[in-house]
Amino acid sequence: MRKLFNKIFVSEDASLVREKDFFVLVDAGCEPKTRGDFMRLTRQTKKPIKYAFLTHHHWDHVHNITYFREKFPRIVVISNHKLGSLMKFRQEESMALGDTEYVVIPTPGHSPKGDDICVHMPEKKTIFVGDLCQPQGPFYHRTDFATPVPYFHLGEEYIHSLKKILGMKINHIITGHGMIFRKKALEITLETAERMRDIAKETVKKNPEVKNSLAAKTIFERIAQERNFHNVQHRLKDPYYHECDEQGLIYWVKKFKKEASQHE
Ligand SMILES: [Zn+2]
Repeated sequence: MRKLFNKIFVSEDASLVREKDFFVLVDAGCEPKTRGDFMRLTRQTKKPIKYAFLTHHHWDHVHNITYFREKFPRIVVISNHKLGSLMKFRQEESMALGDTEYVVIPTPGHSPKGDDICVHMPEKKTIFVGDLCQPQGPFYHRTDFATPVPYFHLGEEYIHSLKKILGMKINHIITGHGMIFRKKALEITLETAERMRDIAKETVKKNPEVKNSLAAKTIFERIAQERNFHNVQHRLKDPYYHECDEQGLIYWVKKFKKEASQHE
């Protein structure tokens, strides 16, 4: 577990922020290690978890909330998703929890429902971004991850959200997967997302009849080449390619096909 400002504790796939009388959980994660780390902290300090932000509703970010709710039945969950009703956070909202200002910022794009939020702590120039920031390597031309492309569902919103957070005064970016990044990581994510869009445009322009899955594969291979990602064949056979990588690629293919058909 890593510590920032002696206030923020980052475990495998969630973070815990220490206030004077309680803790604030940001994402709940799904790993047993995260549960163990955070329960130990609450026991050592004799402080409960009082609030929990959930950045979006993917399983790996919310699974442990059931466990934490059993341990702390009065926990207040703050998220952007209510079954069957409108999204709560349509614009930024600031709230004081303990001595800290937390600003909830809607940042749609990654999840299919558009319910993603970031949680900003302005005094610490720190932001929790859930799954928004996915650089997949230290530079655009270098990857060190299982895929060279970020996972998102709504391409236009995703780019817009990345630009919005990049425009803010921030030093530390904490993901829902235990990574602590600098702004560079957001820049790499944005560059990749924009390259996916631009190559999709070219691909559809060249062949407007191209099948979605074939176009997606073509774009994926180009990005892989540009980013010096070498496990292309392996990734294409991975179920996560269809579940994650292909979503963003097909979003852009469909969008440019639609545009092309409207211009006919
Ligand atoms: Zn996610």
